[in-house]
Amino acid sequence: MPQSENQRRPSSSGGVDWTEVERTAGADLLAATGHASATTEVYSPLPDGYRKGRHRYVVVLGTVMSGLGKGIFASSTAKLLKDKGLVVAPMKLEGYLNIDAGTLNPFRHGEVFVLDDGTECDMDLGTYERMLDQDLSRRNFMTAGQIYSDILERERHGEYLGRDVQMIPHVTGEVKRKVRELAMYGDGRQPADVVFVEVGGTVGDYENGFYIEAMRELAFEEGPDAVCFVALTYVIEPHALGEQKSKAAQLGVKRVMEAGIQPHIVSCRATRPCSPTVLEKIAMFTNVPLKRVFSMHDRSSVYSIPESMRREGLDREILSVLNLHDRVDHAHEDRARERWMKYVTKMESPKARDVRIGLTGKYASVRDAYASIAKCIEHCATHLECDVTLDWLESSDITDQNVEDRLGSCDAIVVPGGFGSRGVEGKIACVKHCRTTGLPYLGICLGFQAAVIEFARNVVGLTDANSTEFDPRGSQPVISELPDQKKIEQLGGTMRLGGQDVAIAPGSLAHQVFGSTSVRERFRHRYEVDPLYIERLEAGGLLFSGRHPVHPIMQILELPRPGDERAEAGKPTHPYFIAGQFHPELLGRPTCPEPMFMGLVSAALQRKYPEAKIQVPASRLSAG
Ligand code: GLN
Repeated sequence: MPQSENQRRPSSSGGVDWTEVERTAGADLLAATGHASATTEVYSPLPDGYRKGRHRYVVVLGTVMSGLGKGIFASSTAKLLKDKGLVVAPMKLEGYLNIDAGTLNPFRHGEVFVLDDGTECDMDLGTYERMLDQDLSRRNFMTAGQIYSDILERERHGEYLGRDVQMIPHVTGEVKRKVRELAMYGDGRQPADVVFVEVGGTVGDYENGFYIEAMRELAFEEGPDAVCFVALTYVIEPHALGEQKSKAAQLGVKRVMEAGIQPHIVSCRATRPCSPTVLEKIAMFTNVPLKRVFSMHDRSSVYSIPESMRREGLDREILSVLNLHDRVDHAHEDRARERWMKYVTKMESPKARDVRIGLTGKYASVRDAYASIAKCIEHCATHLECDVTLDWLESSDITDQNVEDRLGSCDAIVVPGGFGSRGVEGKIACVKHCRTTGLPYLGICLGFQAAVIEFARNVVGLTDANSTEFDPRGSQPVISELPDQKKIEQLGGTMRLGGQDVAIAPGSLAHQVFGSTSVRERFRHRYEVDPLYIERLEAGGLLFSGRHPVHPIMQILELPRPGDERAEAGKPTHPYFIAGQFHPELLGRPTCPEPMFMGLVSAALQRKYPEAKIQVPASRLSAG
């Protein structure tokens, strides 16, 4: 046999009978050849203990254009299946070469979402966590950069048995390995019944081509019923024509078919519901039965999407493709749906009260940079049965002179996190305005640091107070990069990232808000309150009501409320002034609203409607 033939086929001395392999399907080929071998073209390493047939996969691909809401589609369908008692695990595959989203500019890419294990990832992971009410980890997020760097490291360790390392099979093999590993890990408690894989970008892009090939191979290897491919497409409605046109959508799905994938389900994004003619045409030209072609037109809130998908039978079709009907727990579904629909009904019902909340950020013109904050406020508005209008205020335009005018119509202010000096003085001006006028204030991360700087300057009299981030040689660095942190940095570490415990002072506003003396929050910062100044700040009346359980790291600050027994005579009080060194917005979930935001929205309501008795529903923790 010529050498090239020999290379393509597993040699019988490798324990593989080729005639037998040829006779069987791809799934058996995988079982027969197993791990990497010097003599086969197959490289499809299965994680130890992986059981084929145990897990199913839904792969969501985008066509025509980006921004169609693949994450919303995948998270909504995952939610419907989770409600049925199935264990689901979502995974986002990013085509970019960054190892994570930590260095991405929120201006271009939307907010950087942080998971409990410190992974800095795409904001879509936030959509999954909120929709599924499930904590995710690095296992749920993959970038091309991670895959390449893993492979190059393995190559240096000689793990490829003398082979040339190739996009196919090695890169695709690693992708499949990681997707299967997630299937085994599941939600961290039980293995996944269904893994939802969202392939970033659009079919036809160079960047994600290897992901799509890996998913095709996965389906081939796992066998029938194991993988459900969904193609998201876009039905255009040109203004000049005044009717929906399906050609772009058809061509988009054809790109999927060119990649060797026959979609099982086509979901058509559109501004208005897709007409029957358009759906029929798309069905006909994509080989997908009409009952599996769905219109997914614009909705006012993403939280109403799961129910509309359910009504159209999308969940049932996915179960049929994956042959999973027998794993459904109907009682579980009824309970989960009742709870969710209670939220959606409240969300959709008209509200008698409304408040205006100002968000003073530096990327105020790009709302995706603050997506989780906007979502948190939306959840609280629903629970407190009011409308909230968000005022996006560009912090670099705000000064002590114009702050009253700019913030004048707001009932509460959020100063969000941020990096770099642009806009910081504007944020400090906002803090001062809130502190001195009683306007409810919630500071997040940099908003916490801005509150410390403002208090130090204007109450304690440390007129040069600043953060070493903005004034590295300042004489009163109340916020600084601590020596320990600097040491870590020299070793290549960067920031304090991920979930950490916060010990809350009994009897504080924070205690009341959270209903607990211990919470876990997510952090992403490098600078913190310098312990040298804590005593002076507290003597001035600023209370550090949340601290690291062991180290002197200040994590929550507040001012006592009027009448609070901790408020000393002559010291400042405030109806609602609170800030966290962490990012509470990352933990807000629709059916479990975030407590600090609940406090803020209720304080805004109380300010605007002083005669009303605002009932704050039980907090996340006290609600159990
Ligand atoms: N720039 C500040 C720090 O690094 C705040 C970070 C943030 O707001 N996420 O500490």
